[in-house]
Amino acid sequence: MRLRSGDRVRVLTGKDKGREGVVSISLPRKGKVIVEGVNVVKRHTKPRDNSTPGGIVDKLMPVDASNVAVICKKCGPTRIGVRADDFGKRVRVCKKCGGDL
Ligand SMILES: [Zn+2]
Repeated sequence: MRLRSGDRVRVLTGKDKGREGVVSISLPRKGKVIVEGVNVVKRHTKPRDNSTPGGIVDKLMPVDASNVAVICKKCGPTRIGVRADDFGKRVRVCKKCGGDL
């Protein structure tokens, strides 16, 4: 699981299949990510106090990281590899073209 917040991803499966969005929150320990506009569910909430009225609220649910693919600018949806750069730092690369992500 090498997705980070800010990554642009495409959804590969599920009801939002084909949709693209930006990872807003990465949950590496769960192997999940929250992607803007993806896996939105309606929550029916009760009013709690004056500042939080009840009603139907859109809520983003995490999606499994294996169900999304990061998008490479050159080749589209791809998988992420890791290599060491000249300073020994780990950089993420596109598995298809080898370019940095
Ligand atoms: Zn690429």
